[in-house]
This record gives sequence, structure tokens and C-alpha cells, in this order.
Amino acid sequence: SEHAGAAWQKRDVTHFIAGAWVEAESGRWYPNHSPWSGEVLGNVAAGDGEDTRRAIDAAQAAFPGWAAVTPAQRQRVFLRAADIIERRRDEILLALALETGCGIHFGRVQVDFAAALLRQAAAQGYQPAGQLMPSDVPGTRAMAVRRPVGVVAAIAPWNSSLVLAGRASIGPLSLGNTVVLKPSEESPYTGGALWAEILQEAGLPDGAFNVVTHAPGEAGAIGDAMLAHRHVRRLNFTGSTPTGRRLAEKAGSHLKRTVLQLSGQNPLIVLADADLDYAVDAATYGAFIHQGQVCMCARRIYVERPLADRFMAAFAAKVAQLPTGDPRDPATVVGPVINEWALALLQRRVDEAVSMGARVLAGGTPAPPCYPATVLTDVPDDAELALGETFGPVVLVEAVDSAEEAVARANESDLGLAASIITGNTYLGLELAQRLDAGSVHVNDQPVNDEPHMPFGGVKDSGWGRFGLGFAAEEFSDLQWITSREQ
Ligand code: ADP
Repeated sequence: SEHAGAAWQKRDVTHFIAGAWVEAESGRWYPNHSPWSGEVLGNVAAGDGEDTRRAIDAAQAAFPGWAAVTPAQRQRVFLRAADIIERRRDEILLALALETGCGIHFGRVQVDFAAALLRQAAAQGYQPAGQLMPSDVPGTRAMAVRRPVGVVAAIAPWNSSLVLAGRASIGPLSLGNTVVLKPSEESPYTGGALWAEILQEAGLPDGAFNVVTHAPGEAGAIGDAMLAHRHVRRLNFTGSTPTGRRLAEKAGSHLKRTVLQLSGQNPLIVLADADLDYAVDAATYGAFIHQGQVCMCARRIYVERPLADRFMAAFAAKVAQLPTGDPRDPATVVGPVINEWALALLQRRVDEAVSMGARVLAGGTPAPPCYPATVLTDVPDDAELALGETFGPVVLVEAVDSAEEAVARANESDLGLAASIITGNTYLGLELAQRLDAGSVHVNDQPVNDEPHMPFGGVKDSGWGRFGLGFAAEEFSDLQWITSREQ
């Protein structure tokens, strides 16, 4: 195939501050290893709080200029960036595969999403920016006007590196803010430097978008410097619930508003009247896209009892056949997991569940650097796999007596990101959707859905705030009340 075995041109990644590529002030670097090939893709600047403060100062200096740019000028930057991403598609697919183990299918999903995000951001400048308000004070004109907030600090994960770094940055930029992005140590290129290359070529003014990278285990110093800096107005975080909780605690003491997109433990409900093949296809895609490393992936499947045995047999048979291996091969469905730590965690949690009485219906034996698509049933409620999010290609399937029981079990979780329902009765599906504690629910679809303009986000411990360009205005601009009268 065109991608399998394609070679990587080694490249180093530095910070991107005020439109310039700069090394860490400390002079330190770390090697960026591919989770698939193990090769060093390049060395990465190991930044710290000092580098972060420099980037924030640059973003603050660029803010008045970018906020004053006309909608037409801003639109041109985003439209050019969308074209650049599409022009570079093949090269980006290879980078995603080697840096994060992302397969060709999900790589295409990411590139398409990023281009759509930019094209929608291009229209943002023409959205209404306020309202006229009636006043009881005679002769007074009153209005509510949306203004950009200033510097937005963004922290993004590796798992959909291109999409999530884009979503963390492009919405805030489209509203006239400037951004300092901290990518994950696992994706400094596709989740950071690549966006800087694209936005710079598209003509974004220097300093409007900045990237600070860091060595593994040193994210805390960057996050702390962001929260402590007096010019940071928002922290826009996408990652796990434990990290989000820690950052929100610190943000509180600094009076910084946060947007938190956190973990999911997403249910997929299959009712007895579902079409079996349709349900199996939805479950397979929803549980195993990108090796189960998407925050909306199905983690728990509840099947109404009349269909349960047939569903489990058909699902297990399909899952056992999923092509596993080289993410550069378009035929691969299950590529490598992100690192050895993740592989060991999956194995430990599956082994624990089995020791507590769970049965393995498919998978269950690691094939480093891959973990195979794995289906378990009879997992006790107090097993780690049942309690919270385990990031990887493992899904639990349990029989339930009714749709009522499925909804009750789905809502037992403290997490509430995404959910889906497969049923022949779409009306019932819509009724049940409104009773699920989830930021998004998909009837007769799998849970991994996203579009740049939708109100994406979580409830309960899955976080707060909504992405989606119109909705992001609530998060990344402030309403100002202005009155005027004649003197
Ligand atoms: P994931 O399991 O998706 O990697 P994490 O919450 O660990 O979830 O990571 C998401 C992002 O948060 C990454 O960019 C990571 O580097 C960053 N991160 C992790 N710990 C901290 C911290 N203490 N302060 C700031 N950022 C952090």
C-alpha cells in the first residue's frame, strides 16, 4: 500500500514562541519514540516554567493586534490553513501513525475534522457579537457585547492529537484570543509543532499561537506556570479526570476559569429489537476505533437478554478477526497502544477482572506493541475495568433484563461523556437518550461522533464547558455591559 513501511524523515521539535522556533532555555532535550517502530522520530525541547512564561508574554503582546484584525483577514488565515492541512494529508497520516500509532482510517478522520474545524472557524468572525438591551432609565442605550478574554492556555492529550490540539486552540483563536498550547509529551509534533507550521504558513500573526513542549513527567511545571501567570484568562484542558481535577483545584486558587473535557466510561445499549449485524458493527467500531483510545469509545455494552447470547457470539467472532499491527497499513484496524505503560495497565486490569470471575470472549493476550481487541463478560462491579476509564481496546458486555435496567446501569457511573442506543424503535431511543447522564447520546449510531460545530462536552466527572464553535463563545469570550446617554 501507499503508506505501509513508509520512511520517516527525522526532525527535531522545538518550542514555537512569537513566531520563532526556539530551544528550551535550559538547553535540555528528550527523544520522541514511535510506539510502533520504536525509532527516535526526533529530539524535543524539554521546556519548563520559564519557557512557558516567555510564551505567555508573547501571546499577551500579540493579543491587541489579533483581537483587532478584521473578520475578513481572520477568515483568510483559517481558510488557508484548511487548504494547507489537506495539501499535507499524506505526510500528516504518516506522522500520526508513527508518533501516536494512529491508523490510516482514524488519521483521515482527524485530517477531515481539522479542515472542517478551520473552515467553520473562518465564519466565526461574522457571528453576531452582542445584543441591544432595553433599559428603564430614560434616554439610555444599553448593550451586551462579547469581547475576547486574552490569553488562553491550552493543554491537550495525545490520543487524537491533531483534532484535540486543534479544538483546544482554533475556537479560542477564532474569537480573537491568543493561545499557548502544551501538547502531550507523546505527541509534540502532531499535537503541537505541526499546528504551528500550518498556522504560520497560513499567515497567522506572530505570537497569536505558541507551543511549549516538555519532557515526560514534567507537564506539571508547565501547567503550574500557566495557572500562576497573571495574563492567562482561561485554562482549556482535555485529558483524564484525575489530571483535570488537580488542575481545577489549582485554577480555583488562582481564580482562573477552566474548560474541562475529561474521561468517559461510555455505555452502548443494545435493545432486543435491534438488528444484530447493525449492533455488532456499531459496537465494533465504537469500542475499537483507534485501539479504544478515544475518550468517547464504548467501554460498557448492555444488551437486552433476548438478544444477549447471539450478540455476544457474533461480536466476539467479529472482534477476533480484526486485523492488528502496522498502523501505516490501511487494512489494520487495531494498531499499537501508546506506550509500554499503557500495555501493562491493560494487561493488569484484564488479569484482575479474570481473577475475579470475568470471562474472556475475545482477545486478552498482548502482542507488543499491540493489545488485541478484547471483549469480557461477567466483570464484577468492583473490578478496576468496571469502575472507571481504562484507555485501550477492552470492552465489557453484560446482559440486562430491560431498557430500564440498561439506563440505570449506564447512569451508575460518575462519568458522563458519550452514550449510544441501538434499537428498532427510534422513538423509544430518543426517549431513553434524554434520561442518560451523558453530554452526547447517539441513537442507532456508535458513540465516537464529533463535528466541529456541535456542543461537545461532558456531564458529572467528565467535565464542563462545551466545544463547538458557536458554543465556545460562552467559554472563550466575556460579555460586557455598556450603556450610553447624552450628557
Ligand atoms: P491521558 O491519559 O490522555 O494522557 P492525562 O490527563 O495524563 O491524560 O494527560 C492529558 C494532558 O495533561 C497531557 O498534555 C499531559 O501532559 C497533561 N498533564 C498531565 N499531568 C499534568 C499536570 N500535573 N499539569 C498539567 N498538565 C498535565
